[in-house]
Amino acid sequence: MTEMDVQCSYCAKKSCFMGDVSNAPEFCPSKLAPETLKKVRAKLDDPEIQKMAQDVAKTWKGIYTKNRVELTMEYARNRGYNRLGLAFCVGLSYEAELLSNIFINEGFDVISVSCMCGSLSSDDVGLPEEDKIVSGSRQPMCNPVGQAAILDEGGSELSVLLGLCVGDDVLFIKHSKAPVTVIGVKDYALAHNSLAALYTSRSVVSRLNSRRPKKE
Ligand code: SF4
Repeated sequence: MTEMDVQCSYCAKKSCFMGDVSNAPEFCPSKLAPETLKKVRAKLDDPEIQKMAQDVAKTWKGIYTKNRVELTMEYARNRGYNRLGLAFCVGLSYEAELLSNIFINEGFDVISVSCMCGSLSSDDVGLPEEDKIVSGSRQPMCNPVGQAAILDEGGSELSVLLGLCVGDDVLFIKHSKAPVTVIGVKDYALAHNSLAALYTSRSVVSRLNSRRPKKE
């Protein structure tokens, strides 16, 4: 972190929210990267990007009252997506069934694929024995690249991630041709509610230090 890095996390003003950044701090992107922001603003003139952004903005009307499952369906309807692809972690199979039911009951077509599709093991990527949970055993391995391919081949118009591990989500997003959104993330320790790590980080038992680092 240097004086020249953008640091919105530490901005007390958030003046951008009201549309006037004239009194923004020195680390504001409006001051450090105005040309980048100008170029990106011009991209909104592309009719496709403009429509995509409008379809998100329309969901804001219900953003404080509707949950993410509802907002995902609203966004899909705004976009005209009827065929949803669900890529889920095998450990969240119960949740995947519930979510499929909800989508179908709301009139969507659903295809769903588990992370274990293809029956891979960590031997397929040459994981050293000492890095396995139990050395010498078959360690099942997620197949997010396969999930993305299956959903794309199945005609997914919007692929929804449910509980993929950190990194498997990266691989999925990198390989998916369909647009991707996230309903939930894998976090067994916190009942898949990762933000609880932040909300409890000032507790005496937290292993995380969320105090602001001192400047060097
Ligand atoms: S964009 Fe500028 S005003 Fe907005 S949060 Fe970042 S630093 Fe603050």
